[in-house]
Amino acid sequence: MNQLLARDIKNYMRKLLFLVVAIIFVIAFRVANPEVVSSFTRRVTLPFKVALLYAEEPEREIAVPVDGVRLSHVRDSWHAPRSGMRLHEGQDIFAERGTIVHSAMRGYVVRKGENELGGNTVFVMGAGGRRYYYAHLDSYAPGLAVGDYVTRETALGHVGTTGNAAGTPPHLHFGVYTSGAAINPLPLMRDMGEN
Ligand SMILES: [Zn+2]
Repeated sequence: MNQLLARDIKNYMRKLLFLVVAIIFVIAFRVANPEVVSSFTRRVTLPFKVALLYAEEPEREIAVPVDGVRLSHVRDSWHAPRSGMRLHEGQDIFAERGTIVHSAMRGYVVRKGENELGGNTVFVMGAGGRRYYYAHLDSYAPGLAVGDYVTRETALGHVGTTGNAAGTPPHLHFGVYTSGAAINPLPLMRDMGEN
């Protein structure tokens, strides 16, 4: 009987020791790698934050997302004919190669990567579940990652000619998508801040 009790205590102590070691390990990891933990936390909490933003009303006004470009300088290219039966589903905003592209509104980076037409692209999800598409980027803003919260002040990348814009004057292709379809970004754009 005493032996059994002793074994129970031993097992219990072993479990307790394991728990203490685990707690110390987690604390030590947090202290040693605050960035790793915060990026992990961000990734885990991202779906909830995105869901909250999704429930909000979509923005009525967004910024012209290229530094130094005023709205009056944006030539309307919505639904301009493109190769095949395609219509142009966005606005092309021309600027010198390397000009900073910033987010048109607040939101979360939901995709960042290359595709055939768009070249280097970033998708930001904003209020109401609208998605904002930035394409033909020469390069991405340093450190930009999926899950980042962005505002109108956040740089996403630089104007370029990647994707099917190769050989054209450098420009940002800017698209706005609701759950179903592309909408014209032009009526939403305003001169704000430094533009
Ligand atoms: Zn375009």
